[in-house]
Amino acid sequence: MHEAQEREGEREDLAIFRQSARRFFERECAPHVARWDREGVVDREVWTKAGEAGLLCPSMPEEYGGSGGNFLHEKIIIEEQARAGASGFGVSLHNGIVAPYIYHYGSEEQRRRWLPRMATGEIVTAIAMTEPGTGSDLQAVRTTAKRQGNQYSISGAKTFITNGQTANLICVVAKTDPKERAKGVSLIMVETDEAEGFRRGRNLEKIGHHAQDTSELFFDDVRVPTSNLLGADEGLGFKQLMSQLPRERMIIAVQAVAAMERAIALTVDYVKSRTAFGKPLIDFQNTRFKLAECKTEATVARVFVENCTQRVLDGTLDVETAAMAKWWTTQKQNEIVDECLQLFGGYGYMKEYPISRLWTDARVQKIYGGTNEIMKELIGRGL
Ligand SMILES: Cc1cc2nc3c(=O)[nH]c(=O)nc-3n(C[C@H](O)[C@H](O)[C@H](O)COP(=O)(O)OP(=O)(O)OC[C@H]3O[C@@H](n4cnc5c(N)ncnc54)[C@H](O)[C@@H]3O)c2cc1C
Repeated sequence: MHEAQEREGEREDLAIFRQSARRFFERECAPHVARWDREGVVDREVWTKAGEAGLLCPSMPEEYGGSGGNFLHEKIIIEEQARAGASGFGVSLHNGIVAPYIYHYGSEEQRRRWLPRMATGEIVTAIAMTEPGTGSDLQAVRTTAKRQGNQYSISGAKTFITNGQTANLICVVAKTDPKERAKGVSLIMVETDEAEGFRRGRNLEKIGHHAQDTSELFFDDVRVPTSNLLGADEGLGFKQLMSQLPRERMIIAVQAVAAMERAIALTVDYVKSRTAFGKPLIDFQNTRFKLAECKTEATVARVFVENCTQRVLDGTLDVETAAMAKWWTTQKQNEIVDECLQLFGGYGYMKEYPISRLWTDARVQKIYGGTNEIMKELIGRGL
């Protein structure tokens, strides 16, 4: 559990960072979760408040407006967000996916243009890979970016894009050479405030993560300067994606473990107070055995994820191990949350009980960030 980690000697600076993240999620997010769920999006100001609290771009160097931290800081934010049940706020994607793309592949000018404003929350980001016709098969994207003089003309449709209604800087996966598969893919940053031909489609209705503005995006001859390409040359996008996706998968695995731990904590509390047949539910052996299994699996998952986290910090996390972490932890998350919900009986099915939300939020973890079938493909290829 998070509290235990603190007690067991989380480094002092990290423990302080955790406390401030916890305060932020408790004060600025938890009270609004139900309304955000109804509205299908979080308040725009929560981004700027998160910026003021030092929770945006924590792992970016200070010279680019970040806090000079590392993946441990991002992980703390994910854990504290899960603890507060504020799953709609797409901060981990902004911090842990888009910022690193700009930092690793952007030019000095691009870093200075975007990262400081991402750290304040003035800029909210998204990454647009998936299209109506293709998700797992990323090389088959059909959005095109045609070079015309010193501009690209981007045309195509994207769907399921996290932060889609809010983002004003979008990393678009497009084909600069539509005849090629992987070699034709490039990452191009689109600043939407000035983008003619850019349109946001529906904020999609989902079975969980209701406050997350997962959206359709349309690009119709959107002109951006060629200097918005990430990387020195066209055609590097697929390679860039492949080298950053393990980090994205770790974000999902960290979320999975945090959700399992929260589900177990909520359930332990519940089964101690709810009675049936004259005794607390925890006095039934089945309850204790189920929770014992859940706790064991969550502990194994945490140990594995801590190990992978260290590899992220060392720069040694390989594609297969990240894939193992993503598929296994999200599978276990779904199983554990389901077992926990069962112990709530009918109350577990009621929206007012946070366990029901953990259950609906869990399902997509096996799908996005690369489906769990694709994870097994990646592991299988390395055998
Ligand atoms: C809530 C939510 C948020 C999302 N956020 C983003 C985002 O911010 N940006 C973004 O770009 N995308 C995002 N996505 C999209 C997500 O990454 C894709 O849905 C996912 O990659 C799967 O693609 P698909 O939906 O097209 O499914 P498909 O690729 O059509 O797959 C359908 C099924 O076929 C299986 N399958 C496909 N290929 C193989 C294979 N080779 N072997 C075995 N089985 C296979 C899949 O595993 C799956 O079970 C999000 C999705 C959701 C639901």
